[in-house]
Amino acid sequence: MYDKNTVNNQIIKMPKLELHLHLEGAFSFEFLFTLINKYGGNSEIKSIDELRNKFIFKDFNHFIEMWYWKNQFFREYIDFEELAFNTLKNLAKQNVIYAELFFSPWDFSSAGFEIGLIAESIIKGVKRGEKQFPIRCNLIADLVRNYGANSSLKRLDEITPFLNSGVVGIGLGGSEKEYPPNLFKEVFIEAKKRGFRTTVHAGESAGADSIWSAILDCKAERIGHGVRVVEDPMLIDYLIKRKISLEVCITSNLKTRVFDSIEKHPFKYLDEMGVMVTVNSDDPPMFGSNITEELILLNKEFGYEIKDLVRLMKNSVKAAFLEASDKNIYISKLDKFLISASEV
Ligand SMILES: [Zn+2]
Repeated sequence: MYDKNTVNNQIIKMPKLELHLHLEGAFSFEFLFTLINKYGGNSEIKSIDELRNKFIFKDFNHFIEMWYWKNQFFREYIDFEELAFNTLKNLAKQNVIYAELFFSPWDFSSAGFEIGLIAESIIKGVKRGEKQFPIRCNLIADLVRNYGANSSLKRLDEITPFLNSGVVGIGLGGSEKEYPPNLFKEVFIEAKKRGFRTTVHAGESAGADSIWSAILDCKAERIGHGVRVVEDPMLIDYLIKRKISLEVCITSNLKTRVFDSIEKHPFKYLDEMGVMVTVNSDDPPMFGSNITEELILLNKEFGYEIKDLVRLMKNSVKAAFLEASDKNIYISKLDKFLISASEV
């Protein structure tokens, strides 16, 4: 039996993968503080602690308000490159060896940025990070529901030049209730034809119907969140049979009140039923978590031991938008880690 300190140390050392992380929500407070000061500072924010306090959310609207507030400090293309580089640096510090990052450059087009140049800058930052740290990263362009279905094909066109040179897939975040997946059926079918991998946020603020639509209409290979599958036993069976994985983000679900307590969170139930669940952090600084903390939470609240957490990391390998040969490398790294952890 491990004691708590040993378990936490092993979790810190564990090679990790993350599949659901939004780049624009993955900044460190140190990074954002530097950016604020680069552009003359902000009278409200005199220290990193003041900045951190500003991001303690009162409710979901406050979260959205803060999401856009921080965007005003991105003023040059280099800021996106630095964000990507710093994000990889922070992930590598946590022993994350592979990450798939969502990015949504359209949030910045009203400020005069060109989508292609933002994408280029982010890819540059990712490449620099991959060179300097022991981490690999692929990008997923989040088409963002709230910009509407009619213009989504244009967004796909804007991102297509970057397919297989940094970008591997498309995603669909934003207001799930107002913009159900079926509205985006055409763009997802077209994206698949072009060779994009697909994931759709569903079953977070809307129920099981939204997940069905993501799978049947948009042919999503993975579901972002998907936790409200618990509302439909037939869908649970379907996910298990088709091996469709869920990108679960427990702390995010608690902070946005999908579930009002950890006891009500269905992660363990879904895992025990045989659903391919993966562990992710969504928007780490904004939710006050990170992938390491998510794993510690699983150990503390649900009794997951190191071998169980390694199994969850293997789920992420299986669900990753990677070639089989790459997956084998990550599986053997995890096996090696488990052997060394068992010897402690
Ligand atoms: Zn998300």
